[in-house]
Amino acid sequence: MKNLFVFILLLITTVGYSQASPSTKQHCSALTTKGLPCKNFAVGGDKLCSIHSANSIQCGALTSKGQPCKMRVKVKGEKCWRHKQ
Ligand SMILES: [Zn+2]
Ligand SMILES: [Zn+2]
Repeated sequence: MKNLFVFILLLITTVGYSQASPSTKQHCSALTTKGLPCKNFAVGGDKLCSIHSANSIQCGALTSKGQPCKMRVKVKGEKCWRHKQ
């Protein structure tokens, strides 16, 4: 059920951004941590989604694999829903 929650979260994010900029329907050009093309829609003019864009604020907490968490947060210094205590 955790995957379903993530999917819904991504769906809401994608829909939110596509409404804000209907002309932007290009997919993100970044690769995921698994080396697969990112399936999110790009936002802004940098061909990157909100997760991969340098402008986005990321959680930054370390995952169980020791990698920085890439979940997006609204406020700098805040942790995502996975790492929030
Ligand atoms: Zn992306
Ligand atoms: Zn996190």
